[in-house]
Amino acid sequence: MYSCPHCHEAGFSTFAKLFAVSFAPATCSHCGGQAYLHITHALMALIAWILLTWVFIGVAIWQGMSIYLIGTIPAFVLAVDKFMLKAPMRACH
Ligand SMILES: [Zn+2]
Repeated sequence: MYSCPHCHEAGFSTFAKLFAVSFAPATCSHCGGQAYLHITHALMALIAWILLTWVFIGVAIWQGMSIYLIGTIPAFVLAVDKFMLKAPMRACH
């Protein structure tokens, strides 16, 4: 669970946080306040994932082993965790 900018309690699930955007905010399960994750966090996660995926593509080509392409999956999880789940949510007014 992730903390709410209104009541500072853990009121948002991982799923709710990842899909909360400014035009469709998530609702806190403690206070009912609405909050969202700013789009820049999603863009940073996307850019980090693309860059990491290119590293794995490079290694796959260099090693001649396409199995390295599977590295894109942990890279995606890492990018989402680092840039989206650890980012603070914004309160809706
Ligand atoms: Zn709250």
